Amino acid sequence: MGLDEDALDYHSQDPPGKIEIATTKPTNTQRDLSLAYSPGVAAPCEEIAADREQAYTYTAKGNLVAVVSNGSAVLGLGDIGPEAGKPVMEGKGVLFKRFADIDVFDVELDTHDADTMVQTISTMGPTFGGINLEDIKAPECFEIERRLREQMDIPVFHDDQHGTAIISGAALLNAAEIAGKDLSDLDIVFSGAGASAIATARFYVSLGARKDNITMCDSSGIITTDRAETEELNEFKREFASDVSDGDLADAMAGADVFVGLSVGGIVDETMVQSMAADPIVFAMANPDPEIDYETAKQARDDTVIMATGRSDYPNQVNNVLGFPFIFRGALDVRATEINEAMKVAAAEALADLARQDVPDAVVKAYGDQPLQFGPDYIIPKPLDPRVLFEITPAVARAAMDSGAARKELDLDAYVERLEA
Ligand code: NAP
Ligand code: MG
Repeated sequence: MGLDEDALDYHSQDPPGKIEIATTKPTNTQRDLSLAYSPGVAAPCEEIAADREQAYTYTAKGNLVAVVSNGSAVLGLGDIGPEAGKPVMEGKGVLFKRFADIDVFDVELDTHDADTMVQTISTMGPTFGGINLEDIKAPECFEIERRLREQMDIPVFHDDQHGTAIISGAALLNAAEIAGKDLSDLDIVFSGAGASAIATARFYVSLGARKDNITMCDSSGIITTDRAETEELNEFKREFASDVSDGDLADAMAGADVFVGLSVGGIVDETMVQSMAADPIVFAMANPDPEIDYETAKQARDDTVIMATGRSDYPNQVNNVLGFPFIFRGALDVRATEINEAMKVAAAEALADLARQDVPDAVVKAYGDQPLQFGPDYIIPKPLDPRVLFEITPAVARAAMDSGAARKELDLDAYVERLEA
């Protein structure tokens, strides 16, 4: 059977879907039931009524994340609507559980209206320890996240924006190290000015790149200040308008140190890679087909092309699963009020750091015995590396405590031991 038939079979086997609710306390006796529900349940209710934060002690709130979508920008499928997006959101729940033992309620909302989204989601705070916004289209996604972050006292994190930013940011830190370049000197070209590109460009600035050194292209070419004055560009594109003359992606790439593709497949050719600066960094992350193939980019030049894509069949896969499970785990465990820039930077730096360490044999085996050693073809850890949990999670928890986002202080050594257990 092909992948499609396999997937339909996988999802439709009884019970349909991929998730169910399980109870965590005994329910065998009459007494158990009177503890779980009436009359016993009144006692924890009263504790929480007296102190809201006790919800973390007496309910599942602290391990529960909402994966919320309106299905308006689902994977590469586009605006397919909330029901059609549900398999993806359930799948996200599977990954949260598998990688970080976090429980998820997926919530699909039947609206395209940003105000309705904000109003609806903002009332869900009591239920959850965090909100993962998913597959919501740009530019509304920026405003929805910003307003929810202001209104809610739990983390609100749009993974399509920040996941890509953080994982590719880790890759950028290591690629710059290998190329012997400083982040603040990098001349960076973006292809794409959507949800992931805008967030990634902002995040690279947080990591040390200079905003003045970023050139962003959309489907009409370079976003120039001239275009910002004469065209109706959204405020997020305006944020990255460059004071250069009009041009296309090829013009922008000439002499650049870094290409970041978050647009569409096949729009970059060999000559464009040849026009870049020495030892160029090429992150071609359009899915399923990158802006340029791994082989074509590597073979375009005699010096080292440091390449990453979104694909699992080539080195350096920028895979969001390296981020969100562990970022939320760390945030939940300190009862964080938000996932702030310091926590995101800590996650990227911890990922970059981990890629510089020796890889355990078991991980090498899980990836078909290909050599995994820090260098151009290994700049980010592999998703099935169990050390990702032990390294990224405490780094995020520490950053939350240091930046004042934590409601609970953890002894980090004891915490790491608990994670490893
Ligand atoms: P999006 O919000 O729809 O943005 C797409 C952007 O690409 C838009 O700004 C669009 O320009 C631009 N674009 C389209 N055709 C172009 C062209 N020929 N030249 C230059 N730019 C062009 O999508 P997104 O969510 O940011 O995702 C973008 C791509 O990145 C997708 O392929 C997605 O699969 C991939 N992605 C990969 C990862 C990963 O590898 N981990 C993560 C996130 C996203 P206009 O603004 O002019 O329409
Ligand atoms: Mg997504």
